[in-house]
Amino acid sequence: MSLKGKVALVTGSTSGIGLGIAHALAGAGADIMMNGFGDAGAIAKLRQDTERRFGVRVGYSGADISKPAEVAGMVAEAERTLGAVDILANNAGIQFTANIEEFPDEQWDRVIAINLSGVFHGTKAAIPGMKKRGWGRIINIASAHGLVASPQKVAYVAAKHGVVGMTKVAAIELAGSGITVNAICPGWVLTPLVEKQLQARAQQEGSSVEKVTHAFLAEKQPLAQFSTPEQIGALALFLSSDAASTITGAPLSIDGGWVAQ
Ligand code: NAD
Repeated sequence: MSLKGKVALVTGSTSGIGLGIAHALAGAGADIMMNGFGDAGAIAKLRQDTERRFGVRVGYSGADISKPAEVAGMVAEAERTLGAVDILANNAGIQFTANIEEFPDEQWDRVIAINLSGVFHGTKAAIPGMKKRGWGRIINIASAHGLVASPQKVAYVAAKHGVVGMTKVAAIELAGSGITVNAICPGWVLTPLVEKQLQARAQQEGSSVEKVTHAFLAEKQPLAQFSTPEQIGALALFLSSDAASTITGAPLSIDGGWVAQ
């Protein structure tokens, strides 16, 4: 499968799943616009390493996905510097956990701004260019929490259910335009986002991260093992291929059986 000549913008690609997606698409020859936070030197190195390893052009935007104008600016910058946004992977996301009555208003606003509104603003900005070229792939990284709930995650679960709904609306509106829109719904993937939750649980239970990890997985997933960023990347790559041209509006689970129960 070749994506040579295509440009992919992957939000939140300085870490975890986003980096897995960026590498999978670069591996097929796509030029990449990276985005996300982190140490400037480490990001520059990541960008250079990706360019060298895959022989593609790699740009970087430090846009804050919680700011609509910065999201639109990032899409425009990718179009200006790399020529297009053919594939948009809306991946940037954060987590915050607390019961509803203790959930800080500013954390609700922040999770919704990044995990839900950011997907809207990115999609809105990328559609005109995709329509003009008659081809596009919008891949939203939702979650098992886009389909089912867990306690203490009200903003995350609301945002991810919203992403699944938005995916369906966009797929219907864009049917026939050459653009498909899908949501990937991962279960547990071992990234910094999940490592923080494991550390918090170990502290709570006075146990080690190693000890709580199995219980953490087993209580949600019949297949008590993590998916990897590379596996999520491989699914994003498949959705970008011609073989997937009739898959649209679909929430696709990659979750060790989490939502089958
Ligand atoms: P991560 O913390 O490793 O990476 C998150 C990325 O988003 C980083 O690059 C970070 O810099 C970036 N980011 C955060 N806030 C941003 C902002 N305001 N503007 C721009 N970039 C920002 O997390 P991850 O686990 O790789 O998560 C990626 C996506 O996958 C998220 O949407 C998350 O909800 C989803 N997801 C993760 C899991 C999991 O188990 N890890 C499961 C299901 C869904």
